[in-house]
Amino acid sequence: MKEIILKTNRRIELIDITAQVAEAVRSSGIREGICVVYCPHTTAGLTINEHADPNVASDIVNRLSKLVPHNENYAHIEGNADAHIKSTLTGNSVQLIVNNGNLLLGVWQGIFFCEYDGPRNRRVWVQVR
Ligand code: ZN
Repeated sequence: MKEIILKTNRRIELIDITAQVAEAVRSSGIREGICVVYCPHTTAGLTINEHADPNVASDIVNRLSKLVPHNENYAHIEGNADAHIKSTLTGNSVQLIVNNGNLLLGVWQGIFFCEYDGPRNRRVWVQVR
């Protein structure tokens, strides 16, 4: 298992971690298999989407913020209920195919860590089998 350490900079942001995950796959030496990327946080998530145009990530962040506003009448008293909800919307893991030693991603696809309650120190676990 490989661990990716991240330091996020904003309350809400998408961080492209494709290169770090690809490096974890390379260092595993596995040529054919499955790569599971897992986020062990309740106020963050993972998603796969376009990383060619950075406006896609900012559109996702902006729309999620409108769908699930930070300051609403939530029962959770910690003040980050919106972050927990956004985490559930995107999910906390992605699975990829490892083919010929490489991550099999669509030409426009990248893997994003989704910060919803930053800035924080975060970690992502990668298992390749
Ligand atoms: Zn909370």
